[in-house]
Amino acid sequence: MSDLDGFRAEVRAWLEEHAPISLRGRPGDIFHGHWGGRRGGFESPDHERWLRLMVERGWTAPTWPTEYGGGGLSRAQDAVLQSELRRLRLPPPLIGFGLVMIGPTLLEYGTEAQKREHLPPIIRGEIRWCQGYSEPGSGSDLASLQMRAEKNGDGYVLNGQKIWTSYADESDWIFCLVRTDPAAKKQSGISFVLVDMDQPGVTTRPIKLISGASPFCEVFFDDVKALARDVVGGENNGWTVAKALLRHERTMVGEVFARSVMGAEAELLGLAREALGPAEGTLADPLLRDRIVQSAMDERAFMLTIQRIQDAAKTGQPPGTESSILKVYGTELNQRRRELAVTLAGADGLGWEGESYASGHLALTRDWLRSRGNTIEGGTSEIQLNIIAKHVLGLPDGGAR
Ligand SMILES: Cc1cc2nc3c(=O)[nH]c(=O)nc-3n(C[C@H](O)[C@H](O)[C@H](O)COP(=O)(O)OP(=O)(O)OC[C@H]3O[C@@H](n4cnc5c(N)ncnc54)[C@H](O)[C@@H]3O)c2cc1C
Repeated sequence: MSDLDGFRAEVRAWLEEHAPISLRGRPGDIFHGHWGGRRGGFESPDHERWLRLMVERGWTAPTWPTEYGGGGLSRAQDAVLQSELRRLRLPPPLIGFGLVMIGPTLLEYGTEAQKREHLPPIIRGEIRWCQGYSEPGSGSDLASLQMRAEKNGDGYVLNGQKIWTSYADESDWIFCLVRTDPAAKKQSGISFVLVDMDQPGVTTRPIKLISGASPFCEVFFDDVKALARDVVGGENNGWTVAKALLRHERTMVGEVFARSVMGAEAELLGLAREALGPAEGTLADPLLRDRIVQSAMDERAFMLTIQRIQDAAKTGQPPGTESSILKVYGTELNQRRRELAVTLAGADGLGWEGESYASGHLALTRDWLRSRGNTIEGGTSEIQLNIIAKHVLGLPDGGAR
């Protein structure tokens, strides 16, 4: 028996014994689950127990070093753990930007003191993080950002505004890009700073969208304090750290959508049969048949690309430019699939509220709408294509961040 087989047997036995029965068959994903934080309640006592048990094993952050409370697993062992969690269709015990964005970035660029201060509370689900990058007027052209941090004693005073900050009103800390040297060339005068949101001068205001609820907020900073020790990667070196975090974010988004398109063919076929018939045999509409097959082929090609990238990453190297390939293709593929699903559902695909929810068609409409945002957050598809053109294909600069 190989080491990995032995590890699989150990994980399987542990999950069989400990994973709450009520959570089996209820898989979440990286966007749907327990976000943790000072204000985060639990959906049920079993969700709370599930988190506590997984924290004890370090399996909320399986590959992070054990000295910070992580699981210390290799990537191959983590893949085994994830596949065993999927086998029982268990939800992740904890999700959030701490685990997928700021944590991996601190492991790469943080000082030892920063890792010791911030990683354990993320792993235990005690602190929830949000991302303060975008500003009014600074989205794709992020390096034009205006929020200021001025030196003051052993720290900084922050003034300015962030926008589109997902879940800021439910978060405890924010990682922010701020301008520390207004005279320097725009990328050179930026610092990456960690800010406790529970202090005077921080105001979050939810942004309401046409669809009603929204995770977006504006965040205003009026003479807010940050300590010198909360600057990551050194003063005026924030752009390097910011780009590293974006690579983690894009890899995560790409992989999530890869997983979500797995097996999409069966779902699309089911919808097509329901809407168009026949119940068995060849689908009636040749054009839709073609689109479903195309979607299945794209999905398989994408899976092979992911596998290749994951094999290359086994050495533990942080993600590079390939994160843009994952992001642009994963989100665009998912968007095409969602578009096809609402097309197949016909008039039912227009459902927003009401009875069609029970048949799952309402989820189709919402997923379709959400898939538009996925191609924007973390850098738009056009920006990813610019990065691929410049850094993978070696073409002239197109203004990519
Ligand atoms: C669901 C969602 C969640 C988000 N969460 C957060 C968050 O938590 N924190 C945060 O800081 N931000 C967040 N954002 C904001 C996001 O990062 C920005 O929306 C994104 O970077 C694009 O910026 P913009 O909206 O200002 O568009 P713009 O930069 O104004 O772009 C407008 C259009 O022009 C195109 N364009 C711009 N420049 C170029 C170029 N050089 N070449 C080719 N095309 C170009 C873009 O691709 C786009 O189509 C979120 C956005 C979404 C949709």
